[in-house]
Amino acid sequence: MNSAGAGNFIDKKAIQPLLNWFFPRICLICNQPIPESKNYVCESCWSAISPAVNSHLKSLWLKRAAGADVYFSGYHSCFLFNDSVQKIIHSLKYEKIKNIVGEIAKKAVPPMLENSEITSSDYIIPVPLHKKKLKERGFNQSAVFTREVSKYLHIPCKENCLLRKRYTQTQTKLDAEERRINVSNAFDVKNGEEISNCKILLVDDLITTGSTINECAKVLLAAGARSVFALSIAHPA
Ligand SMILES: [Zn+2]
Repeated sequence: MNSAGAGNFIDKKAIQPLLNWFFPRICLICNQPIPESKNYVCESCWSAISPAVNSHLKSLWLKRAAGADVYFSGYHSCFLFNDSVQKIIHSLKYEKIKNIVGEIAKKAVPPMLENSEITSSDYIIPVPLHKKKLKERGFNQSAVFTREVSKYLHIPCKENCLLRKRYTQTQTKLDAEERRINVSNAFDVKNGEEISNCKILLVDDLITTGSTINECAKVLLAAGARSVFALSIAHPA
């Protein structure tokens, strides 16, 4: 029997308890064993993650941006950034645990459904990676999250419209002004007619100073989009 035949022969459901005993599922935040049905993060760790207080986000960003032109109409963040959220995003981005977006979406989508600026969007677009970065990492974590959210919200995802034309250094160690300069003219829109007069929901994994989403919103509006509302998994307090 070849290996594919053996795979069909073994009833995976029947051996799952045995697999769980040998390889218990561990919460990636607290490292405690979790029930089979819970995939990556235990309920106790999820409940310790605070939702973001979105009413203050735009004014917070405006204060940080001090004088910069603002191109997005507002933004919604799912969670307040802390060590637990950092572990979740890290596991998605660097450990390539893509399935965790399903769990993030389950927690993050219900509040989005209350926000008409989100639900009325025509297209949902992820902040793109440069093709060199995409090759290095193998996938765009924001796009993986975007596709999941797109399914829940029933808003079509458009991935080949917004492009990162310039390879930019990581923003982690840059201050707000350096970040703004780092992403300046880094994006471009292809086939702008496809988003003409459309309301765009722009998605990034993290919004910190907002310089990346602002630069993306600028080119999307210049290409004819009617408005750009931003969405992120998390933002810092
Ligand atoms: Zn836990």
